[in-house]
Amino acid sequence: MQCNRCGHKLEVVRQCRRVRLKCSGCHHEYQIHEVAADLDRETEELLERYTCIIYD
Ligand SMILES: [Zn+2]
Repeated sequence: MQCNRCGHKLEVVRQCRRVRLKCSGCHHEYQIHEVAADLDRETEELLERYTCIIYD
């Protein structure tokens, strides 16, 4: 999925026990709940690989 600030691709990044989506363009980090409504299938599948995600 794409950053709603700059349109670059969001990458899934794991930080300790938390997962964030980070923009490859502007490097803004999104919490999962911020973008949950807009997750596309590709991003959902990436997130499903993390078995103990805390959606904070
Ligand atoms: Zn961005």
